[in-house]
Amino acid sequence: MTTPNPEPASGPSNFVRDIILDDLKTNKYRGRVHTRFPPEPNGYLHIGHAKSICLNFGLAAEFGGKTNLRFDDTNPSKEETEYVDSIIDNVHWLGFDWQDRLFYASDYFGQLYEWAVQLIQAGKAYVCDLTADEIRQYRGTPSEPGKESPYRNRGIEESLDLFARMKAGKFLDGTRTLRAKIDMASPNFNMRDPIMYRILHAEHHRTGNEWCIYPMYDYAHGQSDSIEGITHSICTLEFEDHRPLYDWYVEALGIYHPRQIEFDRLNLTYTLLSKRKLLTLVQEGHVRGWDDPRMPTLSGIRRRGYTPEALRNFCASIGLSKTTGSIELGRLEYFVREDLNKSAPRVMAVLRPLKVIIDNYPEGQVEEMDAINNPEDAGAGTRKVPFSKVLFIEREDFREDPPKEFFRLSPGREVRLRYGYFIKCTGVVKNASGEIAEVHCTYDPATRGGNAPDGRKVKATIHWVSAGQAVSGEVRMYSNLFLKEDPGQVEEGQDFTANLNPKSLEVLVECKLEPELANAAPGTRYQFERLGYFCVDADAAPGKPVFNRTVTLKDAWAKIEKRGKQPK
Ligand code: ATP
Ligand code: MG
Repeated sequence: MTTPNPEPASGPSNFVRDIILDDLKTNKYRGRVHTRFPPEPNGYLHIGHAKSICLNFGLAAEFGGKTNLRFDDTNPSKEETEYVDSIIDNVHWLGFDWQDRLFYASDYFGQLYEWAVQLIQAGKAYVCDLTADEIRQYRGTPSEPGKESPYRNRGIEESLDLFARMKAGKFLDGTRTLRAKIDMASPNFNMRDPIMYRILHAEHHRTGNEWCIYPMYDYAHGQSDSIEGITHSICTLEFEDHRPLYDWYVEALGIYHPRQIEFDRLNLTYTLLSKRKLLTLVQEGHVRGWDDPRMPTLSGIRRRGYTPEALRNFCASIGLSKTTGSIELGRLEYFVREDLNKSAPRVMAVLRPLKVIIDNYPEGQVEEMDAINNPEDAGAGTRKVPFSKVLFIEREDFREDPPKEFFRLSPGREVRLRYGYFIKCTGVVKNASGEIAEVHCTYDPATRGGNAPDGRKVKATIHWVSAGQAVSGEVRMYSNLFLKEDPGQVEEGQDFTANLNPKSLEVLVECKLEPELANAAPGTRYQFERLGYFCVDADAAPGKPVFNRTVTLKDAWAKIEKRGKQPK
């Protein structure tokens, strides 16, 4: 992968912006730019939605325009208030604000009904008594025109009467629909007398039982845009074939006509971005919930420690296209690292502890060592880290029998303890089962702070915590939720859950952390030196820290090597 080029927050040049620039030049909307973000409240927002949010809010902001948040809540059976609340919270978290322009398509049910009546009166819509199955049979195929419904030419008065009775609850679900009278021979299926309303005796999260007929997405969307005075209705490519219908409705009604523009939906490798599939993961218990840190939902990545800045920079960098591709997950992680590198304080944490005893260090003595909080940010200052006779280091930083390329601690070898001293390994103590229980060392008091006055070099610098002062904590290590680059691709007879990574979560419960991490507030982010970026989880309690690994360091070892070699 090539290193992504961070673009300005407003993003690289793209064809949607070009259209807006053109419209501004020709004064098409009298200089207005008004976009909307229209989620359906049937799940939590995911990283793909972030692309749409950044685009809609970003473009409007760039041109001094406005963006509405509109819930496309035309489907009562799948929608819940929990989803509405999470979406509101997530869009704010991402850094965008719709001010007083929070709308619901359900606000327009009355107007949409009146307009439907208007279309019936104009002979452009009719009540159809075919069942869903029959409608499907009548639709035709791509090479064959559809067949006209036998109800297509029923009288306007009859349709008006039936539609009123549909609304009044006189019919059972699925027995009738209202359809637009367009063209059963159109090469575009969407134009073959599409359904405008269906009967659904279902309670709606906002309108309760007021309605038992609900408008289809296609009928509701353009009209909602029109009501709100949207100039550019930006949506994903799968709606390209729906655009003629979008245009047909507003033209047939003779109302203000916004412009629909399509762009490519975001796909990420090793990631599924589909609310339906994410819901399956939650319902079947493959993850702990919508905000499980392995989920690509905004709630999940937020809990994991991703920052809104990183996500915005990522979205700005990927640009727009008219063909759907896939972006590497590593590219998103790049922007997370880049942002956290600047802002996250460094601390030392030992995830898989191995006890080190410094035999020549005075019993009971505790020194306060100076540690730099963030080498990328001089203003972040320094802190004191306790040092004593008994320490913990990472198990993997010691080898009793080191291979050739291993330069860290091993018998007879001297290494630097970051911000501490040079220590040299003198031997090990094993437990009954033969595992190393303790590593014994000596330290050189002349190397305090990590440099030898005689100029002697060591090949490795390792991190540590002092056993007496360390706080114990839990660290949750995450890897990709799916094993396949394209998790949607499955063998016959399987579903996408077959591609789940059984090792996507590893919980380390005996981690040893710098004492200052004992009471870190949920959401606080750190770099654990040499290990990666970590964020305090919502499950943490005072004295009982719980961390999520946000992202690894790219090349942790090379980095610390370089830093270790620099004169302090
Ligand atoms: P999903 O397929 O995940 O259920 P959706 O398109 O049904 O998504 P909506 O709530 O209808 O979800 O989407 C709200 C807006 O976000 C729409 O304008 C939609 O086009 C856009 N959007 C959804 N998924 C993506 C994606 N992966 N990339 C970019 N935009 C997206
Ligand atoms: Mg949708």
